[in-house]
Amino acid sequence: MIIPHSSTTEDWDYASAPESLKVSVAEVHKLFIGGKFVKAADGGSFPTVNPATEAPLASIANAGEKDVDRAVRAARKALRGWRRTKPLERGKLLYRIARRIQERSRELAVLETMDGGKPIRESRDVDLPLTAAHFFHHAGWADKLSYVARQSTAPDGIGVCAQVIPWNFPLMMAAWKIAPALACGNTVILKPAETTSLTALRLAEILQEVDCPPGVVNIITGAGDTGRLLVEHSDVDKVAFTGSTSVGKQIARSCAGSKKRLTLELGGKGPHIVFADAPIDQAIEGVVRGIWFNQGHVCCAGSRLLVEESIAQDFIRRIRDRMKMIRVGDPLDKNTDLGAINSLAQLNTIKGLVETGVREGADRFDVKCALPERGFWHLPTLFTRVQPSHSIAREEIFGPVLSVMTFRTPGEAIARANDTPYGLSAGVWTNKASKAYEMAQQLRAGVVWLNCFNEFDPASPFGGVRESGFGREGGMQGLAAYLREEIGGVR
Ligand code: NAD
Ligand code: MG
Repeated sequence: MIIPHSSTTEDWDYASAPESLKVSVAEVHKLFIGGKFVKAADGGSFPTVNPATEAPLASIANAGEKDVDRAVRAARKALRGWRRTKPLERGKLLYRIARRIQERSRELAVLETMDGGKPIRESRDVDLPLTAAHFFHHAGWADKLSYVARQSTAPDGIGVCAQVIPWNFPLMMAAWKIAPALACGNTVILKPAETTSLTALRLAEILQEVDCPPGVVNIITGAGDTGRLLVEHSDVDKVAFTGSTSVGKQIARSCAGSKKRLTLELGGKGPHIVFADAPIDQAIEGVVRGIWFNQGHVCCAGSRLLVEESIAQDFIRRIRDRMKMIRVGDPLDKNTDLGAINSLAQLNTIKGLVETGVREGADRFDVKCALPERGFWHLPTLFTRVQPSHSIAREEIFGPVLSVMTFRTPGEAIARANDTPYGLSAGVWTNKASKAYEMAQQLRAGVVWLNCFNEFDPASPFGGVRESGFGREGGMQGLAAYLREEIGGVR
């Protein structure tokens, strides 16, 4: 099992839906603009495949300049009415979305797995509950913002929000973006990643089902060019981006000097620090979950393991033994732990970095097991004898590859952990609370997990520092990112 625990609403049994539910996928998918499904103006499209089989799943409309403009206009037009909608009513809409996501959770989980390659158990037990939880959480906020702001009316949202999301948690990232924006009275144009558009388009169906006013949420599909046209559109008030640091930097440059407010959630190279006095059994599971959850396609993955030298040999042996128990294969099989790599391009990036790791002198270990003939696969991989200067210790691999280093003192652990331009997440394992807090104070990371890893909760702000970006999602900070003025002392 590589499943993080998450505190989510416990009123729905996500696992109880009928296993046999067949999910049909229409051959052609359109854009969702102004509450309607419409063709791309120039009729352009691109295919999406199942990365576990390479079988084409559907053709997706490719939004060009005219479509982007149309979507921004629809969001602008809807803004007046949505701003005037009573906060309580905005909250009710978010509750309805959350409920409908629960009711359609089995279908959404299967589709998420088919389009993106992640194990069904993860889609079902992590992505879907957290997606619904984000809508529930923000539904509750909608009519309470005025209390926190100490105003008689709800504080103003920012306006029209352009939101671009990645392929690693497609539906969950859509929820992280849409739910707070709507709670705060903004309207939205969301662009999912090109390899995983299908669940966002089902979310569009749900928006129709729950009578979301036309134009409040628009979902446009396409690749990087569509994303660029959207964030560069002159009538956008706010840009929220999750993805690679290189694209994040381009977006920051394009927004500089404009009226646009910007938040960026970028890459990471999370250090996972294990002290000799740690609860070792739990630490093993935490390290496994930290890097082999979602094939390592996790921005906050614990991709660098720093283990205290005195226990390193034994700890690494136990991680290797544990790796042999990870089941790789068909993502739709509920016994699968590690699914397919999201795309051929990502697989090639991972392979390239693994080859570099070997060339630069690190020791590679991976488990041997049969892989399906078709599809994009990478075995769980571990590197020892890693030097801080090695590429695999510095670059985000975004795959199932763990780089192990050792340390002798807490000071050395901190120095190594912080020796990265990133600063998204970190994990510390120790039985000594004072040591844990001392480490947390000194780690340069937006999120520090103590004796756990990859735990998420909509009430807890998530985001990075340094080249991992700025702005938070979740918690009061996540709301502040969609409000014009600061709220409760938080901006
Ligand atoms: P990416 O940054 O290229 O893509 C993320 C999203 O941005 C997609 O929707 C994409 O279509 C869009 N996009 C691409 N170029 C754009 C542009 N110029 N303007 C606006 N939007 C644009 O990421 P990727 O190529 O899919 O993955 C590459 C690397 O990014 C990964 O190896 C990983 O390191 C990192 N990544 C990080 C996260 C994260 O959660 N922080 C998620 C996905 C990928
Ligand atoms: Mg796909």
